[in-house]
Amino acid sequence: MVHKLIIIGSGPAGYTAALYAGRANIRPLLIDGGVGMGQTLLGAGGQLMITTEVENYPGFEHGIQGPELMQLMRAQALRFNVDVVEDLVTKVDFSRRPFQVWVHDTLYETRTVIIATGASAKWIGLPEERPAWEGGLGGKGVSACATCDGFFFRGKEVAVVGGGDTAMEEAVYLTNHASKVYVIHRRDTLRASKIMQERAFRNPKIAFVWNATVEKIHDPTQQRVTGLTLRNTKTAERSELAVQGLFVAIGHKPNTDLFVGQLDLDENGYIKTSHDVRTSRYGVFAAGDVQDHEYRQAVTAAGSGCMAAIQAERLLEAEGDTDILETPTNW
Ligand code: NAP
Repeated sequence: MVHKLIIIGSGPAGYTAALYAGRANIRPLLIDGGVGMGQTLLGAGGQLMITTEVENYPGFEHGIQGPELMQLMRAQALRFNVDVVEDLVTKVDFSRRPFQVWVHDTLYETRTVIIATGASAKWIGLPEERPAWEGGLGGKGVSACATCDGFFFRGKEVAVVGGGDTAMEEAVYLTNHASKVYVIHRRDTLRASKIMQERAFRNPKIAFVWNATVEKIHDPTQQRVTGLTLRNTKTAERSELAVQGLFVAIGHKPNTDLFVGQLDLDENGYIKTSHDVRTSRYGVFAAGDVQDHEYRQAVTAAGSGCMAAIQAERLLEAEGDTDILETPTNW
């Protein structure tokens, strides 16, 4: 059997694509990433599974918990003829159509594909960064998204780890809420662009802690952040910093390992797409954070998932019920 459409990934982009394709009678197959939760384990639902309150997704006047939002998106999509495989895609071959998508030893063939595998925030690797349900402080004061969680730190002192543009942007944004923002960087010069550096240096609420890494986040037993143990990278000396929040801003990694050599990626590994979410391969679309390092919002991901489904539907409609599948190189 050759499927009409396979959607890989189940964050806001994947579920929205499934919702639209399902309602268009395409009967898509959604391969959801597995039974794990969130970006630390990989799995269904994507990054919102490790977020707490989402206040900026339209339609929820009083906000909604990230995992609940994802459950609702899934339930809504599955009302409409969507088949689901609860597992991870392990290999793809997009060199010819029908495209081949493997989940371990099982091969699925399809005429079109929507990639919605998202991106993962990079973490320092401390056990306290893990989600609260695993005994960590993720979502309980440790975050990788200031736009999402900064609001909860009104009047508090927080720290940002990283020395790149993301860290500067997060730090400056956080000064709208927090009373003080410490930027902790492992070297004594920033990687960020000059303009972002200057913006951060100029801000009186931002202080820099140079040559330091975070060794421990306190205090998981209290289920909130009370402070950090820092280690000087030059002298190995330890020190304590009292803060109520920690934002890790050491970069994001798009989940594109599967697509290396199959699709054009940019220098940071994101899938290159046109304005209408076409990838370099005819019949393959990409939506959400896997192709967007700029906005990275649930609502923009959902929007591009909708666009991808509409594009796939148009392509299938134009081809009709033929077995001869074209693969033009420019489209
Ligand atoms: P990035 O440029 O790769 O910077 C990552 C920062 O985190 C670096 O300072 C790095 O330190 C530090 N770091 C990495 N691993 C670490 C670890 N394990 N522990 C402690 N520190 C660690 O990533 P980014 O800031 O997310 O930016 C990614 C791309 O997006 C860049 O091209 C950036 O220009 C772009 N961007 C642009 C804007 C904007 O223009 N408004 C905003 C955000 C991002 P080292 O410096 O020592 O390596």
